[in-house]
Formats: sequence, structure tokens, C-alpha cells
Amino acid sequence: MKLFRRREVEQSAALALLVGGIVGPAASAVTQRDAPYAIAAGVAAAALAFAVLSRRWLRRYWLLRGEADPRVRALLEARVGSYRRLDAEQKLEFERNVRCFLAEHTIAGPKQKEVSFETKVLVAASAAVLLFGREDLDFPAQIDIVVYPEAFTEEYEVKRKGEILGQAHAQGPVILSERALVDGFARQGDGQNVGIHEFAHMLDLQGARFDGTPAGMDGHAARSWASLVHREIARIAKHKSILRQYGATNEAEFFAVASEGFFERPAAMKEKHPDLYRALSEFYGQDPAG
Ligand SMILES: [Zn+2]
Repeated sequence: MKLFRRREVEQSAALALLVGGIVGPAASAVTQRDAPYAIAAGVAAAALAFAVLSRRWLRRYWLLRGEADPRVRALLEARVGSYRRLDAEQKLEFERNVRCFLAEHTIAGPKQKEVSFETKVLVAASAAVLLFGREDLDFPAQIDIVVYPEAFTEEYEVKRKGEILGQAHAQGPVILSERALVDGFARQGDGQNVGIHEFAHMLDLQGARFDGTPAGMDGHAARSWASLVHREIARIAKHKSILRQYGATNEAEFFAVASEGFFERPAAMKEKHPDLYRALSEFYGQDPAG
């Protein structure tokens, strides 16, 4: 994700000036006060409009000017394989992505129970792995993350033997099992990472539905993606795929499972599924096997 979008800030500034230009004279006409009043009202309205329109970018700007928490880097280095394979400059960029995600999203247990800093960093890292290569992708700030200590059931009962490790809701939070999240990063290479899986679903969200063709995949790429998905789902069904069986459930699960495979087992995917690897590499703007 792009952390500071100059163009959007400039557009906001232009719009804010327009607002100020309308509000100033209008306020002075309504109150029948003189020119200095019109100027003051216009400036105040423009400043307010600018602050509201660019608040996300301004907040990030100030956040990143501040000191980074050294624990973030230490945790990424120790726990996140996708981070370790980056060069020094890319690592800095990845850390900035993580810091912004931590600042913008609520990450807590059920009933707002506090979760460990380590867990928060792994949640943010899951999102950062996906967004890292795409300047134009971002998760809306209103996405909250609820972390359950263990797996859970359809009734949201937390149970070690619960069958659900994570869930992405179109209107609501992303739910993750903390145990599965930690395991996902500890066992790099098994093709399973619940954080990557659920955030991939969020990228796939179009309006209120998940259809397996992520937002940001354009017309031609989307059409060839759809036919590729059907071929790859058939391979999973015939046990001729490196992707796990769950990926054959439907197109949306395929995209989430294939994303896990792409980041967790890039070399194997590139060798056994070169077309799929190429398509995901283009979509994510990354070449983890390279
Ligand atoms: Zn899923």
C-alpha cells in the first residue's frame, strides 16, 4: 500500500480551496459582515475541509515521522518469513505498512479484551504481506480484527477443537484464531496461514460478496483469472495440486487458499503451477520465489 498519497492530498487541497471560496463569501453575505470576515471564514472552512478529506494521509504522515517501536522490527525479523526475504529498503517499507495498520485498526479479543503486542504485529504483518507490492491497495480503516484465543465453532464458541480458524465478514470484523495465526507464521512452508487467508478474502470483497476475483483485477486479467481458477480447482479435486483441498470449495476459497500458497510455498507454486504463480505475481506485484 502507498503510505502517503500525494496526489490525493493535492486533490483534497484543491477541493478544500473551492469549499473555502464558496463558504467565505456566502458567510459574509448571510451575516452582512465585511471582507476580512469573508476571508477568515473561507480560510477556516478550507482548513477544516482539508483536515477532514486528508485525515488518513495526514495521520500517517505524522505517525511515520515519529519514532518506530523497536519491538516491531524484532518481531518481524523473528517471526515473519516474507519480511526476512526482503532487502533493507523493502524491510523499512514493510515496517511502515505494519505501523500504519496497527495505528488504524482495532485489534482486540472478544469484548475488547486486550491482546498481546506480538499478536497485533502478526495480524498487521498478515495484511502487510498482501498489500506490500501494490501501491493502490489498502484496507478500509473501519475493518476491525477480533482475535479469539483458539479455534471456534459456528456458534462462535471458542474451542481448541473448533473447526473454524478464521472468518472474514463483509460488514463486520475479520476474526482470527490466535493459535492458528501464530502457527501460520511459525510453520512457514505448509501453505497455511489464517491471517493471509482472511485478509485475501477482504481483498476479494466486492460490495457485499466474495466472488473469488479480487477488486483491482481488471477486465482482461479478471477473465483469464476466471478460467485459470476453474482449471486449478479441477486439479485440486484430482489431487494434482500443491494447494490444499479446501481451495476447491468455491472460487472465493480458491483465491484465499491460492494466496496462502503463493506466499508460503512460492517456489513450489512457481514450479508446479506456473500460470497461477504468474497471475498472482502480477496481482500482488510481488515475486516471492524470485
Ligand atoms: Zn476462507
